[in-house]
Amino acid sequence: MTTTHASSAASIAAPSQPDWALQLTGVTKRFSQGDVSVTALHRVDLTVARGEFVAVMGASGSGKSTLLHVIAGLTRADEGQVIVDGQSLRDLSVPQLTRFRRRRIGLVFQAFNLIPSLSAEDNIRLPLLADRRLRDAAGRIDPLMDRLGIAQRRRHKPDALSGGEQQRVAIARALGTNPSLVLADEPTGNLDSTTGQSICRLLKEISAEQQRTIVMVTHDPAVAAWAERIVVLRDGRVVGQIHTADVADPVELAARCQALANKPAAEVRA
Ligand code: ADP
Ligand code: MG
Repeated sequence: MTTTHASSAASIAAPSQPDWALQLTGVTKRFSQGDVSVTALHRVDLTVARGEFVAVMGASGSGKSTLLHVIAGLTRADEGQVIVDGQSLRDLSVPQLTRFRRRRIGLVFQAFNLIPSLSAEDNIRLPLLADRRLRDAAGRIDPLMDRLGIAQRRRHKPDALSGGEQQRVAIARALGTNPSLVLADEPTGNLDSTTGQSICRLLKEISAEQQRTIVMVTHDPAVAAWAERIVVLRDGRVVGQIHTADVADPVELAARCQALANKPAAEVRA
């Protein structure tokens, strides 16, 4: 059992493109709703360098969550290539994809998605348990809880924690497996703006301290502003990107994001 586990892990290990954490080429994803087909992603090209903190911004329905799901291998692209950490996701079977996701990808959601009956600490330990990596857990969980400021809350269950604390637990859980890529879908969506900003600051610090690659989806320019680069989606297409260092004034940055996100698709394509 252990041998099988190790050898299949090795077969998905060798990254062919060590400089990119993520490469998407021509990614298209359609959904059928009855007779109607919705193109949620339309020929999306996106590369993210190792250690980069990227925000994906766009209005509701622009395809942000679908993009994260395709990157995480939770849903398959209909066309195009998704390469995470050098591994093309379409070359993996469903069980391989599950194992790959557990080991390489940390997921953070708007709704925190903690297990209500488990303490903060046990929630953080869960992905390591699922991957039979308990030996890794001992040395990793304490420093993570310290770093995220939740060590005093380790024995609390989610309902005894504030929203901000729950999201810190969820981030610790995502980081526990030492993933190459952290994907966060509207991580501040259920938080007040002050708490939301503190979660953004934390993600930025973690990205810098640990050279961690983070792709964070948001509809809020004030949240996106924390990233190094903002990629803007509209109607499933990448319509532009902004390097936040190029725009010092937050009001101007927000205005430029909104202008891109709300531009009619025809105008963007022209
Ligand atoms: P966002 O996260 O930017 O709000 P989504 O990625 O959730 O956008 O959705 C993009 C488009 O794809 C929307 O039109 C949405 O209705 C559609 N869509 C997303 N998921 C599904 C699904 N599972 N089935 C059908 N349509 C979907
Ligand atoms: Mg969404």
